Amino acid sequence: MGEESKKVSFDGEAASLLVKELRGSFNYGTARSYEWRVSQVKALLKMLDENEEQIIDALRSDLAKPPLETVVYEIGMVKNSCEIILKELKQWMMPEKVKTSLATFPSSAELVPEPLGVVLVISAWNYPFLLSLDPVVGAIAAGNAVVLKPSEISPASSSLLAELLGKYMDNSCIRVVEGGVDETTALLRQKWDKIFYTGNGNVGRIVMTAAAKHLTPVVLELGGKSPVVVDSNVNLPVSARRIIAGKWGCNNGQACISPDYVITTKDFAPKLVDALKTELENFFGKNPMESQDLSRIVNSHHFARLIKFLDDDKVSSKIVYGGEKDESKLRIAPTILLDVPRDSLIMSEEIFGPLLPIITVNKVEESFNVINSGTKPLAAYLFTTNEKFKQEFVMNVSAGGLLINDTVLHLAVPKLPFGGVGDSGMGGYHGKFSFDAFTHKKAVLYRGFTGDASVRYPPYTKTKQSLMKALIGGDILGMGRALFGWS
Ligand code: NAD
Repeated sequence: MGEESKKVSFDGEAASLLVKELRGSFNYGTARSYEWRVSQVKALLKMLDENEEQIIDALRSDLAKPPLETVVYEIGMVKNSCEIILKELKQWMMPEKVKTSLATFPSSAELVPEPLGVVLVISAWNYPFLLSLDPVVGAIAAGNAVVLKPSEISPASSSLLAELLGKYMDNSCIRVVEGGVDETTALLRQKWDKIFYTGNGNVGRIVMTAAAKHLTPVVLELGGKSPVVVDSNVNLPVSARRIIAGKWGCNNGQACISPDYVITTKDFAPKLVDALKTELENFFGKNPMESQDLSRIVNSHHFARLIKFLDDDKVSSKIVYGGEKDESKLRIAPTILLDVPRDSLIMSEEIFGPLLPIITVNKVEESFNVINSGTKPLAAYLFTTNEKFKQEFVMNVSAGGLLINDTVLHLAVPKLPFGGVGDSGMGGYHGKFSFDAFTHKKAVLYRGFTGDASVRYPPYTKTKQSLMKALIGGDILGMGRALFGWS
């Protein structure tokens, strides 16, 4: 049977059978032990070590992704997650003792982490390995059985993920289903113990609606328009380089936390544009359309979507750098647009590509209103040396994550959860947060048979009522009053 016919045959019945099979393995206890979890994380590390070239090739085929970006973001970050798990998992799996209350005295209590069960990871095309494997290792570390549905928009990566996970991992608990809307719909009809979805908000709503039917909790890793505010007191070349690294150096702007647009003052904007032009030329040369260090646009649908932004009458005269395009190669040059009106098409949707509009304001403080008048972004960036302004930004701007004086790098701090808020998503992961995302912390209270105070038992009296009230509130004085008439 060919690949195509295999994909088509994955319908509701196949999805139901798959979940049943994985639930059987989970209930049998396969995924629960520390040893199994470690063995699978090690297998995944081995898989990444032994197949670096194939992964580079798959991403070259899907996105012309530069090998350095593949090695660092798609492979290196997942390996880093695996290493953290191997170092810390034993600690994460330990029950956590917590204090009890006067009302339960004598007693002890703990939070016992338990796996959720059988979980579904649906990932997106732009970082197909990172966005698939990072949640999958979190699910494995937490002791779950997991089905991965990679994005069909990056077909070479999707089929390599299916091949490699099939070869290296324990398939009684870890499986890949390839496919698009039909296959994902079949999967979403099943009852899962968690769904972890990465992608756009419209499909996020479909995922959440399907999950609601089974009361399945979700993590939604969505996107949004991540702004960069640039104050006039900054180190300009460093700021320009860091904006470029986050925008064009991350999959050519096809990254969820890429700077979507810049806000700066009218006076400072020309200086910023000059610095961006200089550094762009240093990075990608005079003809960026030929640069091997820029990914291409993933497909013609996304190419047309981006060109529509540029063809909008409100912005077509605003291009101050770039603007070249070649549909046959799916390439669009790094493009800067200055003084873009806020009611233009490019400012109404997430760009997710190599176009960078700049909005100008009279005072940089006005940027808070610009940002807060839109939906909550996944990331917001500020470049400034003004400490007070930094604090005001942190206190007043709502986003999944904030980063001061750089872009994108907050993603690389495992002690910071990665995720959105509002329209940019819900839930977070990375480091221990990935373990927590796929874990239920079971509340357990232990009591003995001593200290069986009659106060909670009928017949109820006024004294018992006062005593119970004091006990629940941890009010020792109130207990004294109820028992001994203390005043
Ligand atoms: P995509 O097209 O790959 O879709 C994501 C997943 O949804 C795929 O697996 C796809 O098969 C599935 N899907 C698509 N349509 C569906 C439907 N009708 N029913 C069920 N499943 C369906 O990716 P995309 O949505 O183009 O990804 C880009 C978006 O994702 C951007 O908004 C970006 O900001 C966001 N994103 C967020 C993160 C993050 O970590 N927060 C990371 C990457 C991308």
